[in-house]
Amino acid sequence: MSDSDLVVQRKEGLYCPPGDFYIDPWRPVDRAVITHAHGDHSRRGNSHYLAAAPAEGVLRTRLGEIDLQTLPYGETIDHFGVRLSFHPAGHVLGSAQVRLEHGGRVWVASGDYYVAGSSADTREDNPTCAPFEPVRCHCFITESTFGLPIYRWQPQAELFAAIDDWWRANADAGRASLLIGYAFGKAQRILMGVDRSIGPIVVHGAVEPLNRAYRAAGIDIPETPIATEIKDRSIFRRALVVAPPSAQGSTWTRRFGDYSDAFASGWMQLRGARRRRSVDRGFVLSDHADWPGLQRAIAATGAERVIVTHGYEAVMVRWLTEQGFDAGAFATEYGHDDDDELPGDLGAAVAAAEHAATRVAESVSDAEAARVVVRPEDAPVDDAGA
Ligand SMILES: [Zn+2]
Ligand SMILES: [Zn+2]
Repeated sequence: MSDSDLVVQRKEGLYCPPGDFYIDPWRPVDRAVITHAHGDHSRRGNSHYLAAAPAEGVLRTRLGEIDLQTLPYGETIDHFGVRLSFHPAGHVLGSAQVRLEHGGRVWVASGDYYVAGSSADTREDNPTCAPFEPVRCHCFITESTFGLPIYRWQPQAELFAAIDDWWRANADAGRASLLIGYAFGKAQRILMGVDRSIGPIVVHGAVEPLNRAYRAAGIDIPETPIATEIKDRSIFRRALVVAPPSAQGSTWTRRFGDYSDAFASGWMQLRGARRRRSVDRGFVLSDHADWPGLQRAIAATGAERVIVTHGYEAVMVRWLTEQGFDAGAFATEYGHDDDDELPGDLGAAVAAAEHAATRVAESVSDAEAARVVVRPEDAPVDDAGA
């Protein structure tokens, strides 16, 4: 840590000393710069908020009346000599990386971001928001939610074909398809990605206000009736029902009669995750960068210094140091809240995967590490744990 750092860690959150503001503070502050509207990054109680313009609708949907100033992507604002601009992060509607320039130095705080695969392919962009844009900087503050070699997302076309196949088979058998995903971000990815011709799509009441904010921003989210408002329950037999995790196993599901359920999350890549969530199917769908995506995003910044926030910090810092980066970590209070929240019942599986990855990273290459750790989800339990 040096006096000239543009972002430091304080008990309230990540702080910019020359600009006297915080980025995604976890305690109330006077001036909060917000990367995106997930609950762990945009909390209530700050006096002033600054966010990227496309985030306005979702922020107000989630936080209600706040003193919010917005700035279009790429435009700059000057604050106590710090030039600040927002750049798309590809994570959810309005998500932004924050670029700070002061005294000839440029720092970028990523917030959460989505970029998949080891090379750019627009088919893998998140279609619900502006795609991630690499920004050159001296220091990059990166998230690392899925910063382990086991996390490699399959092509989106393949993933949605699998979801469609599951839905179609259920519809043909006359049972509802209940797909569980977080209400902000994940639900809209699902709604945009599935084949709307298979049957009706209905949503849980928690999803619809966010859908409205997306539609108001011009995103092509289908019109989706709310399940509790449907009188004729026979339509559920061919329906895809999109609902947040809180709905799973609740009395709310009784209206569907016979149904199959599935969980959509990056965590479904973990062996045993589907079984632990007690669902019929697990689909690996994330709004965060996978391991090759993180590497590619970090390289594209040209940064010599990288600071890792939430995720597998230790593994990522070790890997970056081996690659010659000046790497460190900030201890943040970003949980994963409503954003690919790490379900408590998966804690052991994650610990096992991290342990295995750390162990193999000491002696073998990245490719070998991936081979050691990745196994079919329901393979027999071994010494790495389930
Ligand atoms: Zn997020
Ligand atoms: Zn986050």
